[in-house]
Amino acid sequence: MPRYYCPSCGRETEHVSVRRAAEVAQVTRRTMYNWIRSQWVHGVEHASGRRFICVESILKRIGEPQWDADERSSLAEK
Ligand SMILES: [Zn+2]
Repeated sequence: MPRYYCPSCGRETEHVSVRRAAEVAQVTRRTMYNWIRSQWVHGVEHASGRRFICVESILKRIGEPQWDADERSSLAEK
């Protein structure tokens, strides 16, 4: 997962694509965009228009996520 500086968390955090964030949270992409708009989760938007969601904000929103094994180990490395 890419790491970016997250202004909301005040530190560098893991980020995932909106598609992946929706998978992890087990919601539709439309719902994930609603969460972003409602500021229930936050993230960064690149100049390209691609949006990445801060994993910390997803964790706060949903609690234990359904990560893939490699992603879970990547989180555990922190
Ligand atoms: Zn954050």
